[in-house]
Amino acid sequence: MGTTSGYEIAEAAFADIESFFLSTVNFQINRELYVKSMKGNAAITGSGKAARVRLSYEFCNYELSALEDYIFILTIICHELAHYLNFHNEYKDETELDSVALESRADHFGAQILMVLITFGSKTTRLMKQVDAAINPTAITKSIGKSLRSIYDEIYIIGSSELYPEPKLRVGISIAGYLSFYHRYFGSLPEQFTISFLLTVVREGNLSGLLEGFDESQQESVVEKITSAHTQLLERFPLMISGFKEKFGYFLTSRFDASENDRTKHRMMLEKHVSEFELS
Ligand SMILES: [Zn+2]
Repeated sequence: MGTTSGYEIAEAAFADIESFFLSTVNFQINRELYVKSMKGNAAITGSGKAARVRLSYEFCNYELSALEDYIFILTIICHELAHYLNFHNEYKDETELDSVALESRADHFGAQILMVLITFGSKTTRLMKQVDAAINPTAITKSIGKSLRSIYDEIYIIGSSELYPEPKLRVGISIAGYLSFYHRYFGSLPEQFTISFLLTVVREGNLSGLLEGFDESQQESVVEKITSAHTQLLERFPLMISGFKEKFGYFLTSRFDASENDRTKHRMMLEKHVSEFELS
């Protein structure tokens, strides 16, 4: 097993995301790395051309050698990428509810981005293999469960505030995000796959006790808020749905609910892609 750093993981993730955009769009993730004395380890800041992802000095220097730690670090990066790709820093949140809505979306979309990167990101998958040459889908699912537990303990609980969904709910939202990826990937959620994925994540992360007793009072208003905030942002930033290469855009678009027809069309395209891949 080799080691890698937070910096290398971030650079691989940024390059992979940029590669998903059409070259005509020339999309770049602005970043400011090795930031000394910043609050927290990762954030987005600035607006317009100055918008950027910031990662702390300690975060970039962090060395790791286990797959679950890789996914832990990547999850933090993907949460910020979700804010960045959805132009959240262009949205003025005025209330706690605004903030909870945007953070919920960043957890959910971030989980989707994570799955896209570990499935299709050429630089990310290469670096993951460098850390653990024996990776396979089961090992990855187990690591997702373990890392989600660490995220809960070290990030969601410790960073808990009125501006975020409650920690337990963030775990549920993340799992929903992983499944949203598979929903798009398969075109539907095959029951057997879904159950085995969920059981593995919950078991490995020792998460079963967390997935109950949510505070439901905010739920409905948060969902409404997510939709209204993103409808506004989409009008101002069409790149959120139009800048991607077709194959990847389907997974990263902010068009929340693709029609049944779109999903079928995409599934056929992916199947063709995968079959060509096996032949070559
Ligand atoms: Zn956030």
